[in-house]
Parts: sequence; structure tokens; C-alpha cells
Amino acid sequence: MPKEPVIEKVKINSLAYGGQGVGRLENGKVAFIRGALPQELVLARIYKRKKSFVEGRTVEILEPSPQRIAPRCPHFGPCGGCTWQNMSYADQLRAKEQQVREILGHPQELKESPILPIMGMDEPWYYRNQSELSFALGDNRAVLGQHLPGSFSLIEDLSHCYILSENSSEIFNTVRDFANEHRLAPYNRRTHQGFLRNLTVRLGKNTGEVMINLVTSPGTFPQWEFARHLKQSISPTSILWTTTSSLADRYLPEKETVLWGSNYILETLGPLKFQISSQSFFQTNTYMAEKLYRVIEEMAAAQSKETILDMYSGIGTISLFISKRVKKVYGVEFSSSAVEDAKINARLNNIENVEFTCAKAEDYMEALSDRKKNLSIAILDPPRAGVHPKVISSLLKIEPEKIIYVSCNPTTLARDLVAFSEHYDIKTVQPIDMFPQTYHIETVAKLKKKKLRA
Ligand code: SAH
Repeated sequence: MPKEPVIEKVKINSLAYGGQGVGRLENGKVAFIRGALPQELVLARIYKRKKSFVEGRTVEILEPSPQRIAPRCPHFGPCGGCTWQNMSYADQLRAKEQQVREILGHPQELKESPILPIMGMDEPWYYRNQSELSFALGDNRAVLGQHLPGSFSLIEDLSHCYILSENSSEIFNTVRDFANEHRLAPYNRRTHQGFLRNLTVRLGKNTGEVMINLVTSPGTFPQWEFARHLKQSISPTSILWTTTSSLADRYLPEKETVLWGSNYILETLGPLKFQISSQSFFQTNTYMAEKLYRVIEEMAAAQSKETILDMYSGIGTISLFISKRVKKVYGVEFSSSAVEDAKINARLNNIENVEFTCAKAEDYMEALSDRKKNLSIAILDPPRAGVHPKVISSLLKIEPEKIIYVSCNPTTLARDLVAFSEHYDIKTVQPIDMFPQTYHIETVAKLKKKKLRA
């Protein structure tokens, strides 16, 4: 049998969730091609062949898409942090809304879901409040850039980032220069040798607070000199040094040393103040997070006598936003650092009608469904994997009047909405763009318990 070519011509028709162009090879097989836009004819290097589709990466654009624009950032492409800077923002928004319509339009049960136009940003740059960069060995020196999961390939050395804050480059450059002046060895993901692993920066966009967290393998380095140097040049609010010997990309911190300030930053959202610790989750787009919480508040339209369940509550943002309208909010979250923050945040804002529990959502819900608490609204804001089936089955037993589902992955949202659909009507679906220049989509759905037919 003749060997199939590595480079193939592909005509692209649409964009998949995940950012790849979807098209067909000349033999008709479906192809998912990175770096290609709708209506393009590209040459692609095929790196995966399956029975019904192939995956590849664009090596040459033979006929460019009318949607294609010049990316603003010189690191676009090799960096990998942004996927869609080669499309205008209006086209990105259209593509995201279309993807939500397609993904939710697919299952029969969801076909009628009313989907609102996507909410976008007026200024879709410099929006991120957090970044985690990785160190790698460049030309005999440490480089600092985005590490793509599962890839050992070289990291693009970033001098600037258009989606983090405008002064982020100063932080990257100062830390990298310090590392190179002191000949600190970058960690090698293949051999697991070396010291410098990650640099995490967290910013209070509204307060101006800055947390710098250097993550290394266990070992020594002149940490006090490092802290002194950062204080003089950048004056951050907090400087941390975290060590881990984990072999995985997603590390568990083994030891966290505060070199300066505290291990949290403060941020404000509307009238509320939040403490965010180094290990706690916080929405990465501060400006749009406030809009998201307002959408949730409006969809919930809670009354003063109601009791609310806020599952996957993080540092308590949604619970605290909604608390003033209702009798009681129960927040549930499995990260102990986030729960600690949530409890402190309730006190910081003098809010007394919220209660946070550190538990796995699925365990908490199973116990709760036996006791049948009088819950009228459940808010779900799960990670990308979606809601655990036990959470769904327990909610179907408790049957709150409304469920507000906040999702960062339309695919698992669709799966979970189908599971609710026999007992709940989908009233509204609101896509929100929390992640401009990337393919990621945030969606909020409002579900209402079906009325029993007489
Ligand atoms: N609602 C919060 C956090 C949402 S992110 C906000 O808007 O900021 C999802 C949260 O779910 C994270 O804080 C994560 O730690 C938590 N989480 C993930 N899996 C969980 C599980 N099985 N049980 C409880 N919490 C979980």
C-alpha cells in the first residue's frame, strides 16, 4: 500500500471548539487543522490519522481567509497562549456564538434552547489577571514562556504579552535576567533535572496588587537577594517561593515560603472585596467576571426568603454577590485554601448569611439529597469536566425551582443539560467572552423546573 503523504492540501469550512479549522482532505476525509481559518486552502502537516478523521498543523496558506488579519503580538503562533489573534475580535465573537449554537443545537433535547447574543469586551486586550509561564533552556540560558501541556518542544521566550497586564513584560524580564545572572538551571521536563520551573504572576486589576510566585524544584538559591531585587525594581505586594518535586506538569506545591508580603492579594469587584490566596481559583478576566456575576444574579432573580446552593464556590465570589438578596447561601468547594479565603471574604464584607463547606460537590450533594433541604436555587460553576453525575442525580431528587449552570466548556455543558432536560426547561443561554484572543467560551444557562401536567 502506498504511504499516505505527511503534507496534505486541506480546504477549511468552519472552526471547531478548540480553535482548529475543520475541513476535508482531497480524498474527502475530515481534517482538524491548527492555525487554519474558514474558507482557507492550506497545506498541512498531518500528525494524527484516525479511521474517520485526521489532525494536522498548517505549514502554508495557499488561499487566505477573508477573516485573516495580522496578529498584534510578535509571539503569536509559537507562544501558543492565544489561538485567535489572526481573526478580528468581531469574527472571534461570531465564531464563539456559532459554536455554542452548534454544540447545544446537536442533541434533540436542547434544540429549542434560547441562546442570546454573546457578550464581548470593548477592549479585548490586557485582560488577564493571572499567568503561569514555564522556564526552559534556550541558547545556553533560561527562557520564559508558555508551556503547552503534553509538549516538550521549545518554549517561545516572551518579552511582552498582550493579554496579561501592560507592565507584565517588566516582571518576566526582571525574573529571567535574575535567573540568568545567577546561572540558575531551568527544569527539563524530559530528564526532570534542573531547578527553575514556573513563574506565576497574579494581579489585582482594580487594586494594583501584584503577586509573584517562583516555582522551583527543591534546592537552594539566593532567595533573599531575589526578593530584594524584585522589591526594588517592581515593588510587588507579595513574593512567594514554592517548591515541588512532582514529575507532572500540574504540580502540587510541597512548600510555600513567603519572601515578602503575604500569600494572598486583595481584589475588588463592584462593592465587594476579596482575598485571593496563591492556590485558590479566581476568574482570570476580572472585568468580565463582574459582568458574569451580574448575569448570574439577574438570572437567579432570587427573593429574600430563598435559600441558595452555590456549588464549586471557589473563594465565595458568587455566594457573596448574591447573598444580599436572599435568606441564606451555602457554598461548597473542595479546595481548602479557597474555602479559607471564602470564609475570610464573608467577614471582610460583613456578610453573615453565607456558610462555606469544604467538600467534594458529589459527596456533599449525596448527603444533602437524603436530608432534602429546602433549596430553591442551585448555582453550578464546575471545572471543564462538568458536573459529576451524582450531583445531577441528587439535584433531580431535591428539585430546586431554578438551576443556574455556569460553564467554561460548552461540550460538557451540553451533556449535563441533556441530563437535566427531562425535568427542567432551558430558559436562557448566555455566552460571555471571558477569554478574548483564545477559543475558550464561557456560557451561563438558566434552567427552570418543569410544571407538572394535570
Ligand atoms: N465559582 C467560583 C469558582 C469556579 S471554578 C468563581 O466564580 O470564582 C471551579 C471551582 O470548583 C474551583 O474553585 C475548584 O477548586 C472547584 N472544584 C473542582 N472540582 C470540585 C469538586 N469535585 N467538588 C468541589 N469543588 C470542586
